Amino acid sequence: MKEFQRRESLNIEEVEKMECGSGLLQCYLLLKANGVDQFVQAGKFRIQKMYKFLHPVGAQVGWKRLICNSHASPKSTFIMWLAVQNRLATKDKLIRWQLSIDGTCGLCQLESESLEHLFFSCSYSQEIWKQVLLSLGVTRAVLPWHEEVQIAVKKSRNKQKQACKYSIAFIESVYCVWLQRNSKVFRDHVDPVKTVVSNIMFNVECRCQ
Ligand SMILES: [Zn+2]
Repeated sequence: MKEFQRRESLNIEEVEKMECGSGLLQCYLLLKANGVDQFVQAGKFRIQKMYKFLHPVGAQVGWKRLICNSHASPKSTFIMWLAVQNRLATKDKLIRWQLSIDGTCGLCQLESESLEHLFFSCSYSQEIWKQVLLSLGVTRAVLPWHEEVQIAVKKSRNKQKQACKYSIAFIESVYCVWLQRNSKVFRDHVDPVKTVVSNIMFNVECRCQ
């Protein structure tokens, strides 16, 4: 997102050709549903207007600390920021936005894809988060999305190394599940759980020295 903030505008075609995992594309899809025209002037997509819309001044939110204190990668933090606001373009939303698509979750191919399903009710993503928790020494059942967010928010207030690792692991897990979801949707490929968990834990170790 930051690379785009330096510019005042983008061509609509430029935005539409972006990588599917791109945060800006996520924003664009969201805004398209809410009437993107208010952010377009003379055929240009006005980034500052969109940014102000997405990030209203003075908004006080419980998850703010999780995002602001994040030592996770900027890309994963941005996806987390969209996820905590339920602004990821999941299939249930795309269907609500009148897109004619199959709403089944590609990761488990069993249930409808929604935010709550992807994080972490889906059998594939649930196994990822369960394995990540075990790697962190946490043995408990995987909880519904809003409860997992609350736990991560609490951890982000704690400055101890283990808590720091926990919040990075949570953010990186959400990001990696979202990447796997995109990979399945657009390339029909998903990595094994073990590979994804290794990548997440590698990133956690690198970012929590
Ligand atoms: Zn699923």
